[in-house]
Amino acid sequence: MIIQSPDFQRLARDVAGQVVLPGDQDYDSARRVWNGMIDKRPHAVVRASSPDDVAAAIAFATGKGFPVAVRGGGHNIAGNATCDNGLVIDLSLMKSIEVDRDGRRVRAGGGVLWGEFDAATQEVGLATNGGLVPSTGVAGFTLGGGLGHLMRSCGLACDNLVSADVVTADGRIVTASAEQNEDLFWAIRGGGGNFGVVTTFEFQLHEVGPILLGGRLIHRLADAPDVLRFYREFMAEAPDSLIVYAGLSTSPEGEPRLGMRPVFNGPIKEGQELLEPLRRYGSPAVDDIEPRPYVEIQKIVEPMFPPGRLHYWKANFADALSDELIDILVAAYRRAPSPYSNIALEPMGGAIARVPETATAFHHRRHGYSILLLGGWLRPEDNDANVAWVRELWEVTRPFASSDVYVNYLGTEGDARVREAYGPNHPRLSEIKRKYDPHNFFRLNQNIEPAPAC
Ligand SMILES: Cc1cc2nc3c(=O)[nH]c(=O)nc-3n(C[C@H](O)[C@H](O)[C@H](O)COP(=O)(O)OP(=O)(O)OC[C@H]3O[C@@H](n4cnc5c(N)ncnc54)[C@H](O)[C@@H]3O)c2cc1C
Repeated sequence: MIIQSPDFQRLARDVAGQVVLPGDQDYDSARRVWNGMIDKRPHAVVRASSPDDVAAAIAFATGKGFPVAVRGGGHNIAGNATCDNGLVIDLSLMKSIEVDRDGRRVRAGGGVLWGEFDAATQEVGLATNGGLVPSTGVAGFTLGGGLGHLMRSCGLACDNLVSADVVTADGRIVTASAEQNEDLFWAIRGGGGNFGVVTTFEFQLHEVGPILLGGRLIHRLADAPDVLRFYREFMAEAPDSLIVYAGLSTSPEGEPRLGMRPVFNGPIKEGQELLEPLRRYGSPAVDDIEPRPYVEIQKIVEPMFPPGRLHYWKANFADALSDELIDILVAAYRRAPSPYSNIALEPMGGAIARVPETATAFHHRRHGYSILLLGGWLRPEDNDANVAWVRELWEVTRPFASSDVYVNYLGTEGDARVREAYGPNHPRLSEIKRKYDPHNFFRLNQNIEPAPAC
């Protein structure tokens, strides 16, 4: 049997980290990811502790002809951070975080999660744009782009990347930055895990808080069509320092609702004045907007996203929230088969839109909103109803949305959709893939195939 092969024992000796095999006590936790729909069984999970470990795992998988999955935080909905009959390279032991307060830089290991990152950088009053849920991995998030509370003021996570250490398919350990391997640096800012395994991310940091104005405004679902129209006009005038996420969800008591989450990255008094019209509009059932530590703001939605539930998501971008689109979304939410499903509106613009569309692999910089349809439920027998709800809703939103999609919200939707995630940047990505991974070794991802040799 493969797990008893001496080769795996040799692999375990070759790496300083851990090799988890079927039958080991933590095999089940090592092979699972955040999305409970994903149930794959790799031959081994290599918990790498250094770039050399990663290179050893790559060499082992190459020798065996095994497919390789790469895992940062394990949050990706598509479940590509684990695999059947292959090797998982898991970065979760690589947790180092070195903050340079004076230089406003941080170097973070490939297994750092956003909750850990925010806590370390906020200790000295710094931050960069990170994920809304603390258990999301810095790695997959940044490599796909990275949308978050600070993106309108500080840019996407990938826009704040200064350099990265990457282990390539041939086992080389290279640095990608504006000065070294510039093509690779361009590609990993949006191009996902296609080009190698990133073991260290270096970001620029910004002075943030540590106390910011933030919290929640919650309205009854019946008021959502009206309140979302006001929200649309309000966001159209909002400065870059203000972001207000909006979403349809169900309270723990089972009440469908519209939630809005403002975060103002600036002086508290200025934020209070700016937010007054939004807070006065309609009759919110909850208004808990107040000065809060940024690290607390970064945990507000965490209870809505525990690991292990069953999930199916689809997404697109819209330039505007038309009346019709608002009405479609609200009506659809009333029909959601599960209280754990959500519809999220993420306002773009600001610093994101000031970067040219071809400056990084992440391309979608001119849209007004990212629209994310998140199906979430508990029981496998409800899979079909919930998947159908997301698919049907996505279909009816299409006339009001762009065909573009954020790569980090893609499931297993196929090559055409990956191309839509990159638009005109796809051919250049494909050329760079040919240079760094000509045999498509890193293919368990939103795959960009190498361009054919000239
Ligand atoms: C609860 C939840 C909240 C989220 N919130 C946000 C949000 O606020 N904003 C946002 O933009 N997105 C968000 N996402 C989506 C998120 O950006 C993606 O799921 C992202 O891929 C997660 O990164 P990860 O490292 O946790 O994922 P993983 O599943 O570990 O990795 C995803 C893919 O990235 C690649 N990869 C991972 N690590 C490495 C590495 N070190 N080197 C090379 N390739 C690697 C691999 O191809 C892998 O398949 C959220 C997802 C969830 C489930």
